[in-house]
Amino acid sequence: MTSTTVEDLVDLLRGRRTLALTGAGMSTDSGIPDYRGPGSPPRTPMTYQQFIGDEAFRRHYWARNHVGWRHVRRAQPNAGHRALAELERAGVVSGILTQNVDLLHREAGSRALVDLHGSYDRVVCLDCGHLVSRESLAERLDAANPGFVESVGNVADIEIAPDADAVIETTAGFQPVACEVCGGVLKPDIVYFGESVPKERVTRAFAMLDDADALLVAGSSLTVHSGLRFVRHAAKTGKPVAIVNRGATRGDDLATVRLDAGTSETLTALVDALVGSAPLSGAPRRTP
Ligand SMILES: [Zn+2]
Repeated sequence: MTSTTVEDLVDLLRGRRTLALTGAGMSTDSGIPDYRGPGSPPRTPMTYQQFIGDEAFRRHYWARNHVGWRHVRRAQPNAGHRALAELERAGVVSGILTQNVDLLHREAGSRALVDLHGSYDRVVCLDCGHLVSRESLAERLDAANPGFVESVGNVADIEIAPDADAVIETTAGFQPVACEVCGGVLKPDIVYFGESVPKERVTRAFAMLDDADALLVAGSSLTVHSGLRFVRHAAKTGKPVAIVNRGATRGDDLATVRLDAGTSETLTALVDALVGSAPLSGAPRRTP
C-alpha cells in the first residue's frame, strides 16, 4: 500500500528509530546533478573494468576528475542534509547509509554514517593500498599538467557528474600521475560500477539496519544492488520502509509509504513534525 502525503510519512516514522539510506537525489539541491533522476541526460557511467583495463580511458577519466572534484569540494549541504542531522540529534534518525561520495552529510553534522561508495576526497593506490588526499594529488596533477584546469574554463560552468567526473572534451595529452610509494595505478577511493562495496562497510551497514525500527530511503532510485539490498532486508525482517524520491524506484513495491517528492522539503517537514520548528544549524564547512 503506497501513499502520497507527508502526514503518512510522519505517522509511519513517529516513535520509530529510523535509519536513512540516501542517494544522489539528496544532493541535487547542492548543485550536484543526479544522472538517474527524471529529465537527466542519458549517460553511461564508467565501470571499474574500463578504468583498470584501458590506459587511454584512465587518462581521460583523470582529466575530467581533475576538473570535477573541485566542484564537489565547493558544494554545500542543503536543507535536506541539515534536516537529517537535526533528526539524528533529536534521536529520530539512528544513522545514515549514503551512496553519495560528496561528504555533505558529514559537513551538515551527521555522525553515525556509512559512506557506502567511498568519498571523493581520497585516492587509493590499486597496487599497494597507499591512501592520499585528493587535495595533495591535485597539486601533483597541476604540476604535471600546467595550465590544464585554466584551459577548460570556469569549473562551475562545466557539466559535473555525481562521481566528480566533469564532462569535458579537451583531455588529450593529460598526464596522470602514479603512486609515490610504488609507482602503481591510482584510483579515486570511490566504488564504481562493476566493483563491490568493501565487506566491512556492508557489515556495519546491516548492523545499523538491524538496530533500527524503520528504513527511510531519501533521494535514491535504488537502481544498484548496493542500495536495494537494504530495502529488501528491511522488508524481509518486518521493518517498515518509506521512500522519498522524485520518480519511480526499484523498491516501490516494498515500500509502506512512497512519496514522489524532493528530499529538502520533505525532510524539513519531518523535522517540523517530529522535532519542532527550532532553527536548523549545520556544522561549519570544513577546510579540506
Ligand atoms: Zn602504491
